[in-house]
Amino acid sequence: MKEKQHIFLASPHMSKEGYEKYYIEDAFAKNFIAPLGENVIEFEKELGAKVGARAGAALSSGTAAIQLALMSLGVGAGDVVFAQSLTFSASANPITYVGAEPVFIDSDYETWNMSPAALEVGLKKYRAMGRLPKAVIVVHLYGLMADMDEITRICAQYGVALIEDAAEALGSTYTGACTDNVQKYAGTFGDYGIFSFNGNKIITTSGGGMLFCNIADEKEADRRIAKVRFWATQSRDAARWYEHTEIGYNFRMSNIVAGIGRGQLKVLDARVEKKRYIYEYYRRELGGLFGFSMMPLQGHTQSNCWLSAAQLSEEAPAGPLDIIEALEKDDVESRPVWKPMHLQPVFSNCDFVAVDGDGRCVGREAFRVADSRMGADTSVSGTLFCHGICLPSDTKMDDGDLARICEVIKSLWR
Ligand SMILES: *Cc1c(COP(=O)(O)O)cnc(C)c1O
Repeated sequence: MKEKQHIFLASPHMSKEGYEKYYIEDAFAKNFIAPLGENVIEFEKELGAKVGARAGAALSSGTAAIQLALMSLGVGAGDVVFAQSLTFSASANPITYVGAEPVFIDSDYETWNMSPAALEVGLKKYRAMGRLPKAVIVVHLYGLMADMDEITRICAQYGVALIEDAAEALGSTYTGACTDNVQKYAGTFGDYGIFSFNGNKIITTSGGGMLFCNIADEKEADRRIAKVRFWATQSRDAARWYEHTEIGYNFRMSNIVAGIGRGQLKVLDARVEKKRYIYEYYRRELGGLFGFSMMPLQGHTQSNCWLSAAQLSEEAPAGPLDIIEALEKDDVESRPVWKPMHLQPVFSNCDFVAVDGDGRCVGREAFRVADSRMGADTSVSGTLFCHGICLPSDTKMDDGDLARICEVIKSLWR
């Protein structure tokens, strides 16, 4: 029997073939350690080819990619940006970096992501105030696809740009009316799509991100991405000396990091397959427990199942924190679902838009406190947070590890 080892929620998983090392060594051999080089250029092209995006810029992080997407849309001081409330703070922080004001939108239970109904009433409300947002940031949480038919339709109707935060959804696909019933990858629906290669994402470069511009006008998309690359490399004007007419940033990906990305891209499909296997394992073993339900996988989507998340009903014998503590005792890492942004102290002054049972536009005041310890309310995103858990989803786990995790959880039901 193998020794009991620590199980991570999700950790870097390099290819057994050593593809990542090959590209790194190639960069060493050519002394293209930095700044740019073949790996960066090829990584942009290869990831674009994989997901069906054309104009991309490899950057230092997914957060930087969101910031540059906002800058590319001309978002600045005084502007409003709508963002999904149920997400990691990195979706929303860049709104404040450019001086704009975030307004948070509630989720729905079908997708866990931005509620199209809440988005629509929010746009009506802000149009009436003469403050239509400059952009909407939708997220595909844990690899679950948002309702892209409705969200792209509503954004187009109101003439608002869409940024897709696909940081967690590389490899997820969606088929619907907005794709003419053709399968399309997450990150290619919005005017901009971003990915992250942070340490625990489905593929990792140790840290990094990618920004794609997906607008139909290819010349304009290329122009915008060229501008993004310019900002990301300190805004150096074309001159012999260092000439600057704009403020610059140090946001470009290094050639070594991009080499890891090229190698990881070769195992992306295998990682998605394993993540989906893990999800199915949990569904089979735990789905029958009273009050336990896995996150919803919708038939017209293929989730990458980056993290296998679940919901516990009020009546279930164990709540998320009980399960997290029991797993921790067994040296297994799990965690709650993201705490929504509208419940974060740092964003307590920001507006929150949700719909009530009759589809009317409501704000924070419509919801009561559901859990004072966690600071959760009874909104959809607040409820998903309060009752949700992310189960270990490390692709290096084997069936023995999965059985061990399920045994700990099942014991709480006995
Ligand atoms: C990881 C993540 C980001 C940020 O990506 P970094 O590369 O870590 O900056 C943004 N949004 C979501 C939803 C994420 O999970």
